[in-house]
Amino acid sequence: MSEPKPISVTLDEMALKAFEGDLRVYWIPQVPMQAFHHEVKSPKEAKLILDALAQYDLFLLEYELREDFSNAGGLVVFEDGEWVDWESEDGESISEWSPIKLWRCPECKAQRQVDSERAEVECACGEPMEIVEGVL
Ligand SMILES: [Zn+2]
Repeated sequence: MSEPKPISVTLDEMALKAFEGDLRVYWIPQVPMQAFHHEVKSPKEAKLILDALAQYDLFLLEYELREDFSNAGGLVVFEDGEWVDWESEDGESISEWSPIKLWRCPECKAQRQVDSERAEVECACGEPMEIVEGVL
């Protein structure tokens, strides 16, 4: 989906202020209106904000402060002079990606859910654990 223009600045103005690798959440409360933007420092921070915005929309609906709606949101990264959809190293979108990964000990087969920002996780048995791919 192409990103609509934000309310206060044009995409060109945003591009002028952006640096390579900058991350920005966008949230469209009602498609196809303009997007709300919020700069973030990491995909983990983006996930937190997107989850909160989605929950907030549902909260407003529950208390009849909003009519039925169609929202959309995501994370974009500034690359080669333009904002493009962010993807993880494994090609996941922000909605597919999770900061929590399942780790398994190759020795005793114990499993733990741990933040993927951790480079190493040691099992209680002392062996280094490995990330289980394709889970969660
Ligand atoms: Zn173990």
